[in-house]
Amino acid sequence: MAFSEEMKKKISQAINDKGADKSCERCGYQYFTVLDGYFRQDPQDDPYSVQLGEKSVPSFGVACENCGNLSFMAAKVLLPDEF
Ligand SMILES: [Zn+2]
Repeated sequence: MAFSEEMKKKISQAINDKGADKSCERCGYQYFTVLDGYFRQDPQDDPYSVQLGEKSVPSFGVACENCGNLSFMAAKVLLPDEF
């Protein structure tokens, strides 16, 4: 388990507090699960090769419990006091 129960609550609370808890954009279902671990978004300078390590946006992943649609939120924006 990557996240403690306390961290999961902080993430869920921040999503609610910021009004980012609207229904799924694809199917309209209202329940989501915060995925257990950070996701790396790696901005790339070249679309035909992969660069890892220098730039990244640590993110939280959220999955719709009905259709599995995934969305990601920048950790530093959602929980600025933690990062
Ligand atoms: Zn959905």
